[in-house]
Amino acid sequence: MSTEKVIAEVARLTAIANEKFAPHIFIVPTVKFSSLGRCVGTAHLDRNALSFNVDLLKVAPEKLITDTVPHEMAHLVHYALRPQDFRKGSRLGHGRYWKMVARMLGLADPTRCAGWADTETCEAAGMKTTKVHKYTCVTCGNTGLAGPRVHAKVQRGKIYLFAKCRHNLTANCYTGATS
Ligand SMILES: [Zn+2]
Ligand SMILES: [Zn+2]
Repeated sequence: MSTEKVIAEVARLTAIANEKFAPHIFIVPTVKFSSLGRCVGTAHLDRNALSFNVDLLKVAPEKLITDTVPHEMAHLVHYALRPQDFRKGSRLGHGRYWKMVARMLGLADPTRCAGWADTETCEAAGMKTTKVHKYTCVTCGNTGLAGPRVHAKVQRGKIYLFAKCRHNLTANCYTGATS
């Protein structure tokens, strides 16, 4: 099960954090899986908890485990070490310190967007969620998800690339399915 792999990866990254940031002690966060709309994952900073999008986990488990899990874990570690960076209105959430932590947790190229066709991680729990549209690559059968903005542009003829296979994502790839 992919959910078990995610839980195992969270535990593994917690162990890495404990090693790299000793003597600070990190407790393995609570992990939840739910339908988060277009959100890939969320870090609940004050509760030491992570939520991951169960629908996205089904279509792209590897990407979620290699990109989103360390991305969100890095927010928890950053918050534990430097809570002052999270004052209201602060824009350090994806700043230099977060990037450093994310790299230490094995994320090669930390960016604000977790790298999905259009979806970004949302940081605040309870952020308004919107529908995602499912696309299948007509060249190789790879699947991808588009948020409403990208979906509308694709339907008007704009061509994007699938994040995974880099083939063209066009209106022909739309499966008609939405979640
Ligand atoms: Zn983030
Ligand atoms: Zn493809």
